[in-house]
Amino acid sequence: MTTYQGGCHCKAVRYEVESDLTQVIACNCSHCGMKGFMLKFVPSDNFKLLQGEDQLSTYQFNKHVINHPFCKNCGVESFAFGTGPDGSNMHAVNIRCLDDNVWEKVDAMKYNGKDA
Ligand SMILES: [Zn+2]
Repeated sequence: MTTYQGGCHCKAVRYEVESDLTQVIACNCSHCGMKGFMLKFVPSDNFKLLQGEDQLSTYQFNKHVINHPFCKNCGVESFAFGTGPDGSNMHAVNIRCLDDNVWEKVDAMKYNGKDA
């Protein structure tokens, strides 16, 4: 496990996440596809928001089970959170928002969220 830092474009929102960055997904649902997300799901205990909670506005769609917070200033959604199928709290980190272009070294698996 490695600790990565990331956040939004204007740096108002910053977080830390502990992950091995395996099983990163690129989902084709209407929302992920449009935003070009590469997502890594982690237990919420492995995610820590360092700053910017007051800068976040939240978008929800579909069944409203996932919260999509984005920075009110720059508009970037650098993470999402919700409840996993087993009821546990999960965070989904947008790998593209980790510092130093970590995403370039990560292979994302295509995930068919459109039909899920
Ligand atoms: Zn921002």
